[in-house]
Amino acid sequence: MSEHIIVCSTTSHMLKGEKVLRTAGIPVRLIPTPKKYGRLCTTAIVIPSEMKQEAEAILSSEKVQYTGIYEFEPFKVENLLPEDGRVGEDFAGLIKKIEAGQDLSLKEIERLLASENPLEVEALLAAGDKMRQKTVGDVVDIRGGIEFSNYCRKNCNYCGLRRANTSLLRYRMTPEEIIKAAVEMRKLGLSTVILQSGEDPWYTEEKMVEILRGIKSETGMRITMSIGERPRHELEAFRKAGANNYLLRIESANREVFKLAHPDDDYDVRVKNIRDLKELGYVTGSGCIVGLPGQRPEHLAEDIVFLRDMGINMVGLGPFLPARNTPFENLPPGDLLMSLKMVAVARLVLKHVFIPSTTAMATLSPDGLKRGLLSGANVIMVNFTPTAFRKSYEIYSNKAVVTLQWAVDLVKSLGRKLPPYIKETA
Ligand code: SF4
Repeated sequence: MSEHIIVCSTTSHMLKGEKVLRTAGIPVRLIPTPKKYGRLCTTAIVIPSEMKQEAEAILSSEKVQYTGIYEFEPFKVENLLPEDGRVGEDFAGLIKKIEAGQDLSLKEIERLLASENPLEVEALLAAGDKMRQKTVGDVVDIRGGIEFSNYCRKNCNYCGLRRANTSLLRYRMTPEEIIKAAVEMRKLGLSTVILQSGEDPWYTEEKMVEILRGIKSETGMRITMSIGERPRHELEAFRKAGANNYLLRIESANREVFKLAHPDDDYDVRVKNIRDLKELGYVTGSGCIVGLPGQRPEHLAEDIVFLRDMGINMVGLGPFLPARNTPFENLPPGDLLMSLKMVAVARLVLKHVFIPSTTAMATLSPDGLKRGLLSGANVIMVNFTPTAFRKSYEIYSNKAVVTLQWAVDLVKSLGRKLPPYIKETA
């Protein structure tokens, strides 16, 4: 089936276009906009070619601005499987489908994730790595995170920052301390800072705007925010003040698994918040925990489909790790191999996206960070939280601290490339 791709002038037009086309019964899917079609909006709409004229008429009557509708050439690759790969015929068929640029169904994604055949698992992780090389190349992006507050108004069952955890020593960094930490990061060459916290209303819209403006004027860095759900008008103010990216994890796209982990969250509100971010023009990140109670491979397949359908550009995937003094503290950790399979499948399905090898992988296994990079990941998050506070940002217990030196040494040892902004300091 041939397809056409619609590239809109802004994210809000893309989202409006997707909605009106879907409502009119046209099958649509979202993909990160391939570079050759322009980068005005980071997400593009794909439709069946035979519905192009109908779609054009709808977009024009609904005043959706788009820069073009092009014949969509699927991203084709070769040799994702080793020649001597002794894998199941159906497994090989799915990898061939990916090579031909075709989308996998939910069931097909589940088939890849559920495989326990060691040869298939090995082939899957290697295929994720090959796709990483063919889509985003060998450079490993290095980003620095500042965990500026461990107060949280929520009570997620897996998280050590939950408000009911009274044994945690709480801290808040002042705007000056946060800006200073960003300046230190910039001096080491980093170009993106991640501001991370629990959901802490002490940081009002005004305070966050002050922090964002301060970081922009002092460092010029790109800013990623990861501070949980916020009202749309605040997200808009943060965007205007200089925030570029926003990470808001769904944690599980399956409603039941989500509910079990988030007693005081509403699934639909979370999804709406992620949509708001896209409409406001953020490069949007989301992600999932692997190994939550009640989660099965079909739920993880739902996660991948959710990330694909929402057109997510940054994808964080990591194992569940138990945190002291939480309802889930005695549960076993998530499986590293399943987390790696998720990274590989995310890369194979989502293609041109940023996928970090997460701190949770590094915490679960000494070689977790490395194995993530060898399964499809292309980003490392380095911890720049001042030492005095690091131990208290205990979202899970015994959290590893990924340092810049560790990241640089790892990238070099794998023969991958450091980003140019890091080179001079390495
Ligand atoms: S996961 Fe986020 S929102 Fe939930 S308790 Fe932890 S910090 Fe708060």
